[in-house]
Amino acid sequence: MSNPKRISPHFHEQEFSCACCGQVGDKKRLMILVTKLEQLRSLFNKPIHIISGYRCAKHNKACGGVTKSQHLTCSAADIRIEGVDPSRLAKRAHAVFRAIGIYDSFVHVDTRTIRAFWDHRTPKETKEDVIINEESKSSSEGQLPRPKQKEESTKPVPRRTERKTKSSTTPSK
Ligand SMILES: [Zn+2]
Ligand SMILES: [Zn+2]
Repeated sequence: MSNPKRISPHFHEQEFSCACCGQVGDKKRLMILVTKLEQLRSLFNKPIHIISGYRCAKHNKACGGVTKSQHLTCSAADIRIEGVDPSRLAKRAHAVFRAIGIYDSFVHVDTRTIRAFWDHRTPKETKEDVIINEESKSSSEGQLPRPKQKEESTKPVPRRTERKTKSSTTPSK
């Protein structure tokens, strides 16, 4: 009775159902989406995890989705493939989908015929960037920046003494 309903060789209807009410919306649209997901799956030959498929208006609002989200019509899926970087997944998805959004841990695909692409990954801020920002901040606030000529004069170049201490190199018998 509670058997998941298979709607394509690799996908079940339940995978696309709304997290709050279990509905799937327009089934015709769902099938268009699933057909494309099967195509994408075949490119990797790995299972595609559906993080989010259909969302009813209430759930879409609750999870902060945009008001005209393609998830509302069951035309979109947020997907992930184990061991595949979202950027790699997105690159391959271009062969099947025209509307693609890339996020930190998943890729959004939808069946719109217009081209759309967005990158919502959080920019990687390196430690170096932070240091540079702090330095420029402090120098502009305080006194005049000091000329950077000091370093060379204060650091004495260690002269290598040519003297070789025989006692240390020769092993003691
Ligand atoms: Zn719902
Ligand atoms: Zn999405």
